[in-house]
Amino acid sequence: MATSYQLLATPIEYLKGVGPQRAELLKKELNLFTFGDLLHHFPFRYIDRTSFYKINQLMPNTQYVQVIGKVMEKNVVGDGKGKRFVAYFADDTGEMELVWFQGLRWAEKAVEIGKKYIAFGKPGIFRGEYSIVHPDISPYEEETVQADGRLYPMYSSTEKLKSRGLHSRGLEKLLSTLLALVTVHDLPENLTAGLIRQFEFMPRFDAYRQIHFPDKDQTLEQAKNRLKFEEFFFSQVRILQMKSGRKKTSSGFVFSSLDPSFNRFYAEKMPFQLTAAQKRVVKEIRSDLLSGKQMNRLLQGDVGSGKTMVSLLVMLMAIDNSFQSAMMVPTELLALQHYRSLTKLTEGLGLRIGLLTASVKGRERKQLLASLQEGEVHLLVGTHALIEDKVVFKNLGLIVIDEQHRFGVEQRASLWTKNHLPPHVLVMTATPIPRTLAMTLYGDLDVSTIDELPPGRKPITTVHRFDAARLRVFGFMKEQIAAGRQVYIVYPLIEESEKQDYKYLMDGYESIARAFPLPDFAISIVHGKMKPEARDFEMQRFLQNQTQIMVATTVIEVGVDVPNASVMVIESAERFGLSQLHQLRGRVGRGAEHSYCILLTGDKLSAEARARMNILTETNDGFRIAEEDLKLRGPGDLEGTRQSGIEPFHIADLVRDQQILLQARTAAEQILSEDPSLQSEQNASLRNYLLSTRKKEKRWSRIS
Ligand code: ADP
Ligand code: MG
Repeated sequence: MATSYQLLATPIEYLKGVGPQRAELLKKELNLFTFGDLLHHFPFRYIDRTSFYKINQLMPNTQYVQVIGKVMEKNVVGDGKGKRFVAYFADDTGEMELVWFQGLRWAEKAVEIGKKYIAFGKPGIFRGEYSIVHPDISPYEEETVQADGRLYPMYSSTEKLKSRGLHSRGLEKLLSTLLALVTVHDLPENLTAGLIRQFEFMPRFDAYRQIHFPDKDQTLEQAKNRLKFEEFFFSQVRILQMKSGRKKTSSGFVFSSLDPSFNRFYAEKMPFQLTAAQKRVVKEIRSDLLSGKQMNRLLQGDVGSGKTMVSLLVMLMAIDNSFQSAMMVPTELLALQHYRSLTKLTEGLGLRIGLLTASVKGRERKQLLASLQEGEVHLLVGTHALIEDKVVFKNLGLIVIDEQHRFGVEQRASLWTKNHLPPHVLVMTATPIPRTLAMTLYGDLDVSTIDELPPGRKPITTVHRFDAARLRVFGFMKEQIAAGRQVYIVYPLIEESEKQDYKYLMDGYESIARAFPLPDFAISIVHGKMKPEARDFEMQRFLQNQTQIMVATTVIEVGVDVPNASVMVIESAERFGLSQLHQLRGRVGRGAEHSYCILLTGDKLSAEARARMNILTETNDGFRIAEEDLKLRGPGDLEGTRQSGIEPFHIADLVRDQQILLQARTAAEQILSEDPSLQSEQNASLRNYLLSTRKKEKRWSRIS
């Protein structure tokens, strides 16, 4: 067993044709450290190398092509950013250009005048001439174009790698070298005989061969199918095992009493009736808290679905059992707001609520920390300041993490250690995770969903307008303000170009101030660079309707609650992601009035940006938006997934391969239900494979 995995663990520099320099690049550019990593660098597409295009057959929308031609002339032209190497490439039907903006020196050397090459790439038109930018080129040899009906792999590469000869063709050579070394012992069967029979899987060893160098379409499909299943299957097995392991081992505090705080609050203080969905999730949580096991639960619910109230009820349960609660939120603004509203809601219950953020300093901070340690503070609201070592609780029983997608895994995990037994954990998110993804990412968390909004919410009408319609939008804002409503105007703030964004915000503020002059209108402005006190002052003015317009950055994205605001105008909406836009929109529609969200964009929109605008104008359903987001961007970009630390899938696609995911999930559940620790002889292959890959696992899931 031990020797089987050694070949694939060999550092990449030891592969013939790699060497130290290329190895450095392969590590840096593609994260390929070992033979095994390279083996998992699967092609992103396949081409039929036996079909060639003539230059006069190229069309404006032609996809990847191969052209055989001769280099007639070559030159370095342009300068600065436009500096490039151009080879003039001709066949008997016409001429085109091969262009390199990077790796000029390499290309200049590689391309010889008068020699024949096969150029591969996606043609474009520049000033009426066809060209291929950064083509794959290889010397033309008669025998390489013999018709053999095979599909050739295309590997993703980078400019730096290409300049070292590691374009797709170069990687293909490395893979063929590698595959010549790999034997069936290096890729032992890892599925059970039962699974292979049930799904008619191709043997594992063959699958790796076929995925790189398929014999034909059909074998390629079989290989893909098997490898995708494998990836999903083992991730599901790990998650399910982790989940049952946690359930077995993590004892947790039991919160049996609901007196006096919970019951008094429920009977006397609740400002409204809980929705059926809120009641249901409170019950789900309560049964966790009675189970004697540590709770690790994700509470998802659309913006405005009333997660805060649920968390307050749960925190009261902790307090009634002599435990402290902590609530961690991503921004100071939100911390302050929660602090205030929780204090107000629980007035008269004799609870002490603390607020801990970076701006709580000096004596005030010292006193707060002391009374926290004494157990005098029942409930602490704060930002990530909560996780500092200096923050010591007397008896922390529950952690609520609001807007969990804004936190990284480590931040969350460090709260874990704040008591001798791990406290119960409730993470809340308004970025709903589609079911299939939740299953994969948070499979070891229990998930509760609030799928209902409190009654009486009026719909939000969302429209998309181009910048040219700005004056009309201003006119509409004036109407709403005249009717007593308030308006948000949000500007994007993206860290990379902070200065520029800041200028953009200020310019925007000025033009708004001109269009909405005093004394008829008063404007607040809130952004990340302001001192917290100043920010709070502006927020309060807006909350109390002393200002009618709030010009802001996305600092108001989460949690801010001003029911009288009925219009959300989002500037440069094309620069925001779907879920962020949905969050921002969630700032309105909180009062009784009909609300509006206006997405302002430039005239030129990419197809994807247009799709985003369309989705938002079509639906208010956070779950649908999350699904669409996943489709548009892929799971790797979905908020929260990048931080989740889960190993990316090499070949399986959470969106397109949901069918396979479900099959894998079902199979994993079935096998584990019969043999939870995979001890039986028939599951030996699964057990061995899991053992052999365990080291690579990250402990990402303790708190996810
Ligand atoms: P989110 O789930 O986005 O955190 P909040 O907890 O901020 O939502 O709730 C949004 C608003 O709805 C708040 O003003 C809150 O007081 C109100 N709310 C919550 N639950 C109910 C309910 N059951 N009935 C009426 N209003 C509710
Ligand atoms: Mg909230």
